[in-house]
Amino acid sequence: MNKIDFRSDTVTWPTPEMREAMATAEVGDDVYGEDPTIIELEALAAEMLGKEAGCLVTSGTQGNLTSMLTHANRGDEAIIGEDAHVFQWEAGGMAVLGGILPKPLPTDEIGRMDLDQVRAAIRGDNDHWPTSRLICVENSSGGNYGAAIGPEYFAGIRAIADEHHLKVHLDGARLFNATTALNIDPRQITQHVDSVTVCLSKGLSAPVGSVIAGSHSFIKKAKRNRKLLGGGMRQGGVIAAAGLIALRDMTQRLAIDHQNARRLAHGLAQIPAVEIDPAKVYTNMVFFRLAEEAQQSNIVQTLRDEFNIWIGGYPQSGLFRAVTHYWITEKEVDLLLEAMRTIFEREFSY
Ligand SMILES: *Cc1c(COP(=O)(O)O)cnc(C)c1O
Repeated sequence: MNKIDFRSDTVTWPTPEMREAMATAEVGDDVYGEDPTIIELEALAAEMLGKEAGCLVTSGTQGNLTSMLTHANRGDEAIIGEDAHVFQWEAGGMAVLGGILPKPLPTDEIGRMDLDQVRAAIRGDNDHWPTSRLICVENSSGGNYGAAIGPEYFAGIRAIADEHHLKVHLDGARLFNATTALNIDPRQITQHVDSVTVCLSKGLSAPVGSVIAGSHSFIKKAKRNRKLLGGGMRQGGVIAAAGLIALRDMTQRLAIDHQNARRLAHGLAQIPAVEIDPAKVYTNMVFFRLAEEAQQSNIVQTLRDEFNIWIGGYPQSGLFRAVTHYWITEKEVDLLLEAMRTIFEREFSY
Protein backbone atom coordinates (compact mmCIF):
# COMPACT_ATOMS: atom_id res chain seq x y z
CA MET A 1 0.00 0.00 0.00
CA ASN A 2 1.27 3.45 -0.85
CA LYS A 3 1.89 5.60 2.14
CA ILE A 4 -0.30 8.63 2.72
CA ASP A 5 2.24 11.41 2.92
CA PHE A 6 1.35 14.73 4.53
CA ARG A 7 4.94 15.69 5.37
CA SER A 8 5.29 18.18 2.53
CA ASP A 9 4.10 18.99 -0.96
CA THR A 10 7.63 18.13 -2.11
CA VAL A 11 6.66 14.44 -1.87
CA THR A 12 4.26 14.70 -4.81
CA TRP A 13 4.87 12.16 -7.56
CA PRO A 14 4.45 13.33 -11.15
CA THR A 15 0.90 12.90 -12.46
CA PRO A 16 0.13 10.28 -15.14
CA GLU A 17 -0.13 13.14 -17.69
CA MET A 18 3.33 14.32 -16.69
CA ARG A 19 4.85 10.87 -17.12
CA GLU A 20 3.27 10.63 -20.56
CA ALA A 21 4.52 14.08 -21.56
CA MET A 22 8.01 13.28 -20.25
CA ALA A 23 8.15 10.07 -22.27
CA THR A 24 7.32 11.85 -25.51
CA ALA A 25 9.03 15.24 -24.93
CA GLU A 26 10.91 16.80 -27.80
CA VAL A 27 14.42 17.51 -26.52
CA GLY A 28 17.74 19.08 -27.50
CA ASP A 29 20.94 20.30 -25.86
CA ASP A 30 19.87 23.17 -23.63
CA VAL A 31 23.41 24.36 -22.95
CA TYR A 32 23.41 25.09 -26.70
CA GLY A 33 19.95 26.67 -26.21
CA GLU A 34 18.39 23.98 -28.38
CA ASP A 35 15.83 22.22 -26.21
CA PRO A 36 12.42 23.24 -27.58
CA THR A 37 10.53 22.03 -24.52
CA ILE A 38 12.71 24.05 -22.15
CA ILE A 39 12.39 27.09 -24.42
CA GLU A 40 8.60 26.71 -24.26
CA LEU A 41 8.61 26.29 -20.48
CA GLU A 42 10.81 29.33 -19.92
CA ALA A 43 8.60 31.46 -22.16
CA LEU A 44 5.44 30.32 -20.37
CA ALA A 45 6.96 30.98 -16.95
CA ALA A 46 8.06 34.45 -18.05
CA GLU A 47 4.58 35.24 -19.34
CA MET A 48 2.75 33.96 -16.26
CA LEU A 49 5.12 35.89 -14.00
CA GLY A 50 5.07 39.08 -16.11
CA LYS A 51 8.78 39.07 -16.90
CA GLU A 52 10.80 39.17 -20.13
CA ALA A 53 12.54 35.83 -19.78
CA GLY A 54 12.76 32.62 -17.79
CA CYS A 55 15.42 30.12 -16.77
CA LEU A 56 14.89 26.49 -15.77
CA VAL A 57 16.97 25.42 -12.77
CA THR A 58 17.32 22.14 -10.92
CA SER A 59 15.77 23.24 -7.62
CA GLY A 60 14.37 26.15 -5.70
CA THR A 61 17.64 26.45 -3.83
CA GLN A 62 19.56 26.69 -7.09
CA GLY A 63 17.07 29.27 -8.38
CA ASN A 64 17.45 31.49 -5.33
CA LEU A 65 21.24 31.14 -5.25
CA THR A 66 21.56 31.78 -8.99
CA SER A 67 19.42 34.90 -8.57
CA MET A 68 21.40 36.14 -5.57
CA LEU A 69 24.71 35.64 -7.39
CA THR A 70 23.29 37.53 -10.34
CA HIS A 71 22.15 40.52 -8.32
CA ALA A 72 24.96 40.82 -5.78
CA ASN A 73 28.75 40.65 -5.56
CA ARG A 74 31.14 39.55 -2.81
CA GLY A 75 30.90 41.93 0.14
CA ASP A 76 27.37 42.97 -0.74
CA GLU A 77 24.58 42.62 1.78
CA ALA A 78 21.11 41.14 1.36
CA ILE A 79 18.28 42.21 3.68
CA ILE A 80 16.13 39.18 4.44
CA GLY A 81 13.54 37.92 6.91
CA GLU A 82 15.16 35.95 9.74
CA ASP A 83 12.82 32.98 9.10
CA ALA A 84 13.16 33.09 5.32
CA HIS A 85 13.95 29.82 3.55
CA VAL A 86 16.92 31.40 1.78
CA PHE A 87 18.42 32.36 5.14
CA GLN A 88 17.48 29.28 7.18
CA TRP A 89 17.27 26.32 4.85
CA GLU A 90 19.67 26.76 1.95
CA ALA A 91 22.95 25.85 3.62
CA GLY A 92 24.12 29.47 3.69
CA GLY A 93 24.76 29.36 -0.06
CA MET A 94 24.71 33.13 -0.53
CA ALA A 95 27.61 33.48 1.93
CA VAL A 96 29.43 30.24 1.09
CA LEU A 97 29.42 30.62 -2.67
CA GLY A 98 28.59 34.28 -3.23
CA GLY A 99 30.37 36.08 -0.39
CA ILE A 100 27.05 37.84 0.17
CA LEU A 101 26.25 38.82 3.75
CA PRO A 102 22.73 38.20 4.94
CA LYS A 103 21.20 40.98 7.05
CA PRO A 104 18.36 39.13 8.78
CA LEU A 105 15.42 41.15 10.14
CA PRO A 106 12.50 40.03 12.32
CA THR A 107 9.21 39.24 10.61
CA ASP A 108 5.59 39.50 11.72
CA GLU A 109 3.09 36.64 12.07
CA ILE A 110 2.70 36.26 8.31
CA GLY A 111 6.36 36.71 7.37
CA ARG A 112 6.61 40.42 6.59
CA MET A 113 9.61 42.50 7.58
CA ASP A 114 8.79 45.90 9.08
CA LEU A 115 9.28 48.49 6.33
CA ASP A 116 10.84 51.02 8.70
CA GLN A 117 13.33 48.39 9.83
CA VAL A 118 14.11 47.56 6.21
CA ARG A 119 14.75 51.21 5.49
CA ALA A 120 16.90 51.54 8.62
CA ALA A 121 18.94 48.47 7.64
CA ILE A 122 20.12 50.03 4.39
CA ARG A 123 23.68 51.21 4.77
CA GLY A 124 25.22 54.41 3.51
CA ASP A 125 28.45 54.71 1.59
CA ASN A 126 31.31 53.99 3.99
CA ASP A 127 34.52 52.05 3.36
CA HIS A 128 34.02 50.10 6.60
CA TRP A 129 30.66 48.67 5.66
CA PRO A 130 29.34 46.03 3.34
CA THR A 131 27.26 47.42 0.50
CA SER A 132 23.48 47.06 0.70
CA ARG A 133 22.47 45.53 -2.62
CA LEU A 134 19.43 43.34 -2.37
CA ILE A 135 16.18 42.72 -0.50
CA CYS A 136 14.91 39.12 -0.41
CA VAL A 137 11.22 38.43 0.15
CA GLU A 138 9.19 35.21 0.24
CA ASN A 139 5.57 34.34 -0.64
CA SER A 140 3.88 32.20 0.59
CA SER A 141 5.84 32.34 3.84
CA GLY A 142 6.86 28.79 4.67
CA GLY A 143 8.16 29.78 8.09
CA ASN A 144 4.81 31.37 8.98
CA TYR A 145 2.14 28.71 8.40
CA GLY A 146 2.39 29.15 4.64
CA ALA A 147 0.79 32.58 4.94
CA ALA A 148 -0.07 34.43 1.74
CA ILE A 149 1.17 38.02 1.65
CA GLY A 150 -0.77 40.56 -0.43
CA PRO A 151 0.69 42.92 -3.08
CA GLU A 152 0.76 46.05 -0.88
CA TYR A 153 3.70 44.71 1.12
CA PHE A 154 5.70 44.09 -2.03
CA ALA A 155 4.82 47.55 -3.34
CA GLY A 156 6.22 48.95 -0.09
CA ILE A 157 9.42 46.94 -0.44
CA ARG A 158 9.73 48.07 -4.08
CA ALA A 159 9.42 51.74 -3.13
CA ILE A 160 12.21 51.41 -0.56
CA ALA A 161 14.40 49.49 -2.99
CA ASP A 162 13.91 52.15 -5.65
CA GLU A 163 14.80 54.95 -3.24
CA HIS A 164 18.13 53.25 -2.57
CA HIS A 165 18.83 51.55 -5.91
CA LEU A 166 18.49 48.04 -4.48
CA LYS A 167 17.29 44.91 -6.25
CA VAL A 168 14.44 42.73 -4.98
CA HIS A 169 14.35 38.94 -5.29
CA LEU A 170 11.21 36.96 -4.48
CA ASP A 171 11.51 33.38 -3.29
CA GLY A 172 8.16 32.33 -4.70
CA ALA A 173 8.60 28.60 -4.16
CA ARG A 174 4.86 28.51 -3.44
CA LEU A 175 3.87 31.79 -5.10
CA PHE A 176 0.93 30.15 -6.87
CA ASN A 177 -0.42 28.90 -3.55
CA ALA A 178 -0.25 32.47 -2.27
CA THR A 179 -1.93 34.03 -5.30
CA THR A 180 -4.58 31.31 -5.34
CA ALA A 181 -5.40 32.05 -1.70
CA LEU A 182 -5.47 35.79 -2.41
CA ASN A 183 -7.39 35.23 -5.65
CA ILE A 184 -5.07 37.50 -7.62
CA ASP A 185 -2.87 37.19 -10.70
CA PRO A 186 0.77 36.36 -9.78
CA ARG A 187 1.84 39.42 -11.77
CA GLN A 188 0.21 41.63 -9.13
CA ILE A 189 3.01 40.44 -6.85
CA THR A 190 5.87 39.93 -9.30
CA GLN A 191 5.51 43.41 -10.84
CA HIS A 192 7.16 44.66 -7.65
CA VAL A 193 10.26 42.44 -7.81
CA ASP A 194 13.24 42.20 -10.14
CA SER A 195 13.44 38.41 -10.08
CA VAL A 196 11.39 35.50 -8.84
CA THR A 197 11.93 31.77 -8.34
CA VAL A 198 8.94 29.40 -8.40
CA CYS A 199 9.09 25.67 -7.64
CA LEU A 200 7.55 23.28 -10.14
CA SER A 201 8.13 20.32 -7.86
CA LYS A 202 6.06 21.21 -4.79
CA GLY A 203 2.29 21.61 -4.98
CA LEU A 204 2.61 21.75 -8.76
CA SER A 205 3.76 18.09 -8.68
CA ALA A 206 6.55 18.09 -11.26
CA PRO A 207 9.29 15.64 -10.28
CA VAL A 208 12.19 18.12 -10.58
CA GLY A 209 12.82 21.77 -11.21
CA SER A 210 12.14 25.42 -10.55
CA VAL A 211 12.06 28.44 -12.85
CA ILE A 212 13.51 31.90 -12.40
CA ALA A 213 11.99 34.86 -14.21
CA GLY A 214 13.35 38.37 -14.75
CA SER A 215 14.51 40.82 -17.40
CA HIS A 216 16.40 39.67 -20.52
CA SER A 217 19.69 41.01 -19.17
CA PHE A 218 19.12 39.44 -15.74
CA ILE A 219 18.33 36.02 -17.21
CA LYS A 220 21.32 36.17 -19.57
CA LYS A 221 23.61 36.70 -16.58
CA ALA A 222 21.66 34.16 -14.48
CA LYS A 223 22.29 31.47 -17.10
CA ARG A 224 26.00 32.01 -16.71
CA ASN A 225 25.67 31.63 -12.93
CA ARG A 226 23.48 28.56 -13.36
CA LYS A 227 26.31 27.05 -15.42
CA LEU A 228 28.80 27.99 -12.70
CA LEU A 229 26.63 26.16 -10.16
CA GLY A 230 26.45 23.04 -12.31
CA GLY A 231 22.87 23.61 -13.39
CA GLY A 232 23.39 23.68 -17.14
CA MET A 233 21.33 20.71 -18.31
CA ARG A 234 21.39 18.99 -21.65
CA GLN A 235 18.18 17.18 -22.68
CA GLY A 236 16.32 18.76 -19.78
CA GLY A 237 13.16 18.90 -21.88
CA VAL A 238 12.22 15.66 -20.16
CA ILE A 239 11.87 17.72 -16.98
CA ALA A 240 10.42 20.76 -18.70
CA ALA A 241 7.61 18.66 -20.20
CA ALA A 242 6.34 17.98 -16.69
CA GLY A 243 6.98 21.62 -15.79
CA LEU A 244 4.68 22.80 -18.58
CA ILE A 245 1.83 20.74 -17.14
CA ALA A 246 2.73 22.06 -13.69
CA LEU A 247 2.40 25.68 -14.84
CA ARG A 248 -0.56 25.23 -17.19
CA ASP A 249 -2.77 22.83 -15.28
CA MET A 250 -1.57 22.32 -11.74
CA THR A 251 -1.62 26.05 -10.91
CA GLN A 252 -5.38 25.97 -11.62
CA ARG A 253 -6.24 23.38 -8.96
CA LEU A 254 -4.44 24.63 -5.84
CA ALA A 255 -7.69 25.88 -4.28
CA ILE A 256 -8.60 22.21 -3.79
CA ASP A 257 -5.49 21.70 -1.66
CA HIS A 258 -6.37 24.76 0.40
CA GLN A 259 -9.91 23.50 0.89
CA ASN A 260 -8.58 20.12 2.04
CA ALA A 261 -6.21 21.88 4.44
CA ARG A 262 -9.17 23.73 5.97
CA ARG A 263 -11.15 20.47 6.17
CA LEU A 264 -8.25 18.91 8.05
CA ALA A 265 -7.88 21.89 10.39
CA HIS A 266 -11.58 21.95 11.26
CA GLY A 267 -11.50 18.19 11.87
CA LEU A 268 -8.43 18.49 14.09
CA ALA A 269 -10.08 21.27 16.06
CA GLN A 270 -12.74 18.74 17.12
CA ILE A 271 -10.14 16.45 18.71
CA PRO A 272 -9.63 17.42 22.37
CA ALA A 273 -5.95 16.40 22.41
CA VAL A 274 -5.15 18.78 19.55
CA GLU A 275 -4.50 22.50 19.79
CA ILE A 276 -5.02 24.33 16.54
CA ASP A 277 -6.19 27.69 15.27
CA PRO A 278 -7.97 27.00 11.96
CA ALA A 279 -7.74 30.73 11.16
CA LYS A 280 -4.00 30.16 10.70
CA VAL A 281 -4.53 27.90 7.72
CA TYR A 282 -3.77 30.24 4.85
CA THR A 283 -2.82 27.90 2.01
CA ASN A 284 -1.95 24.18 1.99
CA MET A 285 -0.24 23.90 5.39
CA VAL A 286 -1.79 22.85 8.66
CA PHE A 287 0.21 23.30 11.87
CA PHE A 288 -0.94 22.05 15.26
CA ARG A 289 0.24 21.24 18.76
CA LEU A 290 -0.83 18.64 21.28
CA ALA A 291 -2.55 19.54 24.52
CA GLU A 292 -0.28 19.20 27.55
CA GLU A 293 -1.64 15.83 28.70
CA ALA A 294 -1.13 14.36 25.20
CA GLN A 295 2.42 15.54 24.67
CA GLN A 296 4.07 12.23 25.56
CA SER A 297 2.19 10.58 22.71
CA ASN A 298 4.51 9.65 19.87
CA ILE A 299 1.87 10.54 17.34
CA VAL A 300 4.20 10.82 14.33
CA GLN A 301 5.59 7.31 14.83
CA THR A 302 2.25 5.71 15.70
CA LEU A 303 0.58 7.17 12.62
CA ARG A 304 3.42 5.78 10.53
CA ASP A 305 3.62 2.33 12.09
CA GLU A 306 -0.08 1.59 12.38
CA PHE A 307 -1.69 3.58 9.60
CA ASN A 308 1.10 4.26 7.09
CA ILE A 309 0.25 7.97 7.38
CA TRP A 310 3.22 10.34 7.51
CA ILE A 311 3.12 13.82 9.03
CA GLY A 312 5.90 16.21 10.04
CA GLY A 313 6.91 16.76 13.66
CA TYR A 314 9.26 19.43 15.00
CA PRO A 315 10.27 18.35 18.53
CA GLN A 316 12.04 21.63 19.37
CA SER A 317 8.95 23.75 18.88
CA GLY A 318 6.35 21.10 19.69
CA LEU A 319 4.72 21.80 16.33
CA PHE A 320 3.34 19.23 13.93
CA ARG A 321 2.75 19.88 10.24
CA ALA A 322 0.47 18.35 7.65
CA VAL A 323 0.62 19.64 4.07
CA THR A 324 -2.02 18.97 1.45
CA HIS A 325 -1.25 18.40 -2.22
CA TYR A 326 -2.38 16.65 -5.40
CA TRP A 327 -2.20 13.15 -3.89
CA ILE A 328 -4.19 14.10 -0.79
CA THR A 329 -7.95 14.13 -1.33
CA GLU A 330 -10.80 14.45 1.15
CA LYS A 331 -10.51 10.71 1.65
CA GLU A 332 -6.91 10.90 2.90
CA VAL A 333 -7.79 13.89 5.09
CA ASP A 334 -10.56 11.85 6.70
CA LEU A 335 -8.26 8.84 7.14
CA LEU A 336 -5.78 11.00 9.02
CA LEU A 337 -8.51 12.44 11.24
CA GLU A 338 -9.90 8.99 11.94
CA ALA A 339 -6.43 7.63 12.77
CA MET A 340 -5.75 10.49 15.17
CA ARG A 341 -9.09 10.00 16.90
CA THR A 342 -8.37 6.28 17.24
CA ILE A 343 -4.93 6.86 18.74
CA PHE A 344 -6.06 9.47 21.24
CA GLU A 345 -9.15 7.55 22.30
CA ARG A 346 -6.98 4.54 23.00
CA GLU A 347 -4.16 6.40 24.72
CA PHE A 348 -6.14 8.97 26.64
CA SER A 349 -9.69 7.62 26.47
CA TYR A 350 -10.88 10.91 24.99
C1 LIG B 1 11.21 24.36 -0.94
C2 LIG B 1 11.55 25.78 -0.85
C3 LIG B 1 12.69 26.31 -1.46
C4 LIG B 1 13.76 25.47 -2.13
O1 LIG B 1 13.34 24.45 -2.85
P1 LIG B 1 14.21 23.15 -3.20
O2 LIG B 1 13.66 22.80 -4.53
O3 LIG B 1 13.90 22.17 -2.14
O4 LIG B 1 15.63 23.52 -3.25
C5 LIG B 1 12.89 27.66 -1.38
N1 LIG B 1 12.04 28.46 -0.73
C6 LIG B 1 10.94 28.00 -0.11
C7 LIG B 1 10.04 28.95 0.60
C8 LIG B 1 10.67 26.64 -0.14
O5 LIG B 1 9.58 26.18 0.48
